[in-house]
Amino acid sequence: MNFNLNKVAVIGSGVMGAGIASHIVGAGIPVCLFDIVPRELSEDDIKKGLTQESKAFRNKFAQAGKDGVTNKKTGLIYDADMANMIEVCNLSDDLEKLGECDWIIEVIVERLDIKKNLMKQLAEYAKDSAIITTNTSGISVNKIVEDMPLEFRERFLGTHFFNPPRYMRLFEVIPCDDTSEEVFEFMKYVGSHLLGKGVVVAKDTPNFIGNRIGVYSSVLTFKIMEKYNFNFEQVDQITGPLMGRPKTASFKTADLVGLDILDHTSQTLYNNVGDGEDKSIFILPDYVKEMIENKQLGNKTRQGFYKKVKTEKGKAVLVWDKDVKEYVPTTRELLPEVVESSQQKTLKDKLNTLVYGEGKANKFAWDIIKSVLLYSANRVPEIADDYKEIDKAMNRGYNWEVGPFEIWDMIGVEKSISKMREEGEVIPEWVLVRLSKGKTSFYDEKHLVKTLDKMYPVVREEKNCAVLDMGDGVLCLEFRSRGNSINPDILDVISETVKEIEENPNYKGLVIGNNSNNFSAGADLFSICKMVEANDEEGLKSMLAKFQKASMDIKYANKPVVVAPRGMTLGGGLEITMHSHCAVAHAETYMGLVEAGVGIVPAGGGVKELLVRCMEDVDVYNLSDLGPVIRKVWENIAMAKVSKNAFDAIKLGYLRKTDRIVMNIDEQLEEAKKQVLRMVEDGFRPNIKKAIKVTGTTGKAFLDYMAYNMKEGNMISAYDYEIAQKIADTVTGGDVPKNTVVTEEQILALEAKSTLSLLKNEKTQQRMMNMSKTGKPLRN
Ligand code: NAD
Repeated sequence: MNFNLNKVAVIGSGVMGAGIASHIVGAGIPVCLFDIVPRELSEDDIKKGLTQESKAFRNKFAQAGKDGVTNKKTGLIYDADMANMIEVCNLSDDLEKLGECDWIIEVIVERLDIKKNLMKQLAEYAKDSAIITTNTSGISVNKIVEDMPLEFRERFLGTHFFNPPRYMRLFEVIPCDDTSEEVFEFMKYVGSHLLGKGVVVAKDTPNFIGNRIGVYSSVLTFKIMEKYNFNFEQVDQITGPLMGRPKTASFKTADLVGLDILDHTSQTLYNNVGDGEDKSIFILPDYVKEMIENKQLGNKTRQGFYKKVKTEKGKAVLVWDKDVKEYVPTTRELLPEVVESSQQKTLKDKLNTLVYGEGKANKFAWDIIKSVLLYSANRVPEIADDYKEIDKAMNRGYNWEVGPFEIWDMIGVEKSISKMREEGEVIPEWVLVRLSKGKTSFYDEKHLVKTLDKMYPVVREEKNCAVLDMGDGVLCLEFRSRGNSINPDILDVISETVKEIEENPNYKGLVIGNNSNNFSAGADLFSICKMVEANDEEGLKSMLAKFQKASMDIKYANKPVVVAPRGMTLGGGLEITMHSHCAVAHAETYMGLVEAGVGIVPAGGGVKELLVRCMEDVDVYNLSDLGPVIRKVWENIAMAKVSKNAFDAIKLGYLRKTDRIVMNIDEQLEEAKKQVLRMVEDGFRPNIKKAIKVTGTTGKAFLDYMAYNMKEGNMISAYDYEIAQKIADTVTGGDVPKNTVVTEEQILALEAKSTLSLLKNEKTQQRMMNMSKTGKPLRN
């Protein structure tokens, strides 16, 4: 594949275009963001003194799109500096710029005639090697280029992002009849490797895969709820996590997407699906049409199926009552069938309890699940040659934990089919053929296993962690505790595994990582609380000593240790990461030393290592004023600052500039393994111990003064102030004069001392208990 991808043009800077542009610059590729020139000057433009010739007027739409995604607080962009990589352009003055772009993606209004016209314009200005794609949600990709010459069609295809493009993993690739194999393969590579998406190959059929099944499920719900006479709130209880779908279930999801969009996409299906299926299902009920007319479009108009209102007591959520045509309070009363199903531990048990029960809600759930399974099966091979693509699309584009065929396995293929047959349903032939060949499930047993033993052989298995063989001499240590929290047993295994790779000549290095959404929520608070309750000071001391030993073992290992943080990487999880030789982080990594929130100081080496890292950037020995460095470390810890993503984590000092950031979470562990091997090949050298210059009592006085002002300004509580002082004491090296040079061990001892003293305080104990029980911080 000899394609360049040095610059991308995104045409259309609306919700999707601007979101796509910001994601592409996040992947490191500059973007020209185009939109049309507004028809006329608005009153506001005139007030600003703009004329038809002003750039600010001509680029107004593209600029507004860019501003939306680069807004520091609400924007989708990973890093504010990346905004400089988005150049705003308009489709009248800047067409020559298209000639600089290797990939041109059309993201304009969903109208065939307008898209077709744009293609002609693009053909004139794009270079011959440029790949051109459309982000249409449902228009036939073949139709969009039907008037274009073959050489254009060969480098054209559909690349369908989901909203919001940064967070939704689905990337449907839809080749047209003439797309060349090289272009098709290259765009799959771009989607998966460069943009980090879950690529699903779709056929050129109405709404492709995700929206075909997703919209069907939505409209089906309207139909089936009529039969059972449930209201929206009741339906949402049944069609959410109990079915492996997001908490937003049916109607909160519809509010998120927008009722107008749902109307548009279901209309597209009504107009375009073949005669083989019952089209009437795609006609939305009259009451939904009325809601759309009344601007009850969902979150964008602040009212849809639900509406949030302010009350005397705070906020309340109301739900639309379609019969009385007004919003009424939500009851939050759970249906008994929902309670019964929720009590089951696994999704499989929840689903089976839900669909095979005898209650009204059970029958409703069965009807929904049965219809989605049959509809999906009947769409193979129409929309995808492989049923697995449908599951992937629903998982990545609709956040379903499991797709239709995974659900089918969970409720038993044979059992459910015999029930369907009793009800007179016709089972698709290909499913029956599979069954007749003895294939009683769609996937093998390990398909839904989340731990890494699905990928690598296990060499050691403990209750809360495992060590696996990634091959080529690289081991992987995987945490398996609740929230991947780090307890004393895991700490022992870390130290032992580091020793094992050091001593066993068969091993080249170690990866610490996992396959969950989050790397680690931090130290195991539950075991700390138990020791505090039992007044077990020796136990606490031993746990801290183990933590610090594990961190230092990683840091000074004589073979490379690479950590693969992702999602929540908090407290102890970050301490482990910071002690590694290199991190291979997923772009969506939220890191922070959040110990202050539970009333302690990071004591697994976190304060020490953040201090060391932040000092790496400055020549401390020639710098008389260490104040700004110390202040950064202290602020990060005292204010429990959590990074917004991996790029932000570099700015906060949690990751190094030399650490790697990967876009595709599925590639992360293999990249971490490659990193170990690369480091070995490049002549890995172990870390050398260095002394740390501290600011001592002078620095502490400065930080205490800042903390005092925060307390007086009611920014922190009196107890936060106490904790902030302990952090200051540790960060500044304790009771020593300014510019004293100390060892790492001295700072580690201060971390432990501060934490042990705080653990004796009732307020810290209350904070820990609260976090351990509710997962929420307590500000006491
Ligand atoms: P939008 O209305 O937010 O933005 C469309 C943009 O296109 C506007 O900025 C508009 O000024 C510009 N535009 C209008 N006419 C144009 C023309 N003739 N030439 C160039 N630009 C023109 O729409 P959107 O939601 O961003 O959708 C854009 C495309 O992406 C559509 O094809 C839509 O179906 C698809 N899509 C949307 C979503 C979603 O959730 N919104 C999801 C996936 C795909």
